Amino acid sequence: MSKTIFQKIIDREIPSEILYEDEFCIVIKDIAPKAPVHLLVIPKKLITKLSESSEEDTKLLGHLLKIVREMAKEHGIEEAFNVIINNGEKAGQTVFHLHIHILGGDKVKLSSELITD
Ligand code: AMP
Repeated sequence: MSKTIFQKIIDREIPSEILYEDEFCIVIKDIAPKAPVHLLVIPKKLITKLSESSEEDTKLLGHLLKIVREMAKEHGIEEAFNVIINNGEKAGQTVFHLHIHILGGDKVKLSSELITD
């Protein structure tokens, strides 16, 4: 299986501004932002989509949400932000390496509006 764009970013094969990194994940800005702040939290472990995660990933998934909280605070959007995981092609997933979208900023939207974008 060829590497996803996110795996290539994690492996430093293509350049990207990594805003945060630890043993388990990276955080980058979305290349096509849908909000003033649009970040992606990406686990280093290749999990193609949330529904493919397993029991052993429970701690990792919790860690990713912790990073979501910290990033929202760091970027000054902790008051109002959306957290989105697209699972599967029909749900709009385009990169098959699990990632969590964080969206916020002045024009924070209702998640129902984001879905119709
Ligand atoms: P999804 O549709 O949930 O799979 O989200 C994939 C997201 O990755 C989209 O919002 C894209 O804009 C974003 N994306 C694709 N390539 C890059 C890249 N090289 N750097 C940052 N974000 C990217």
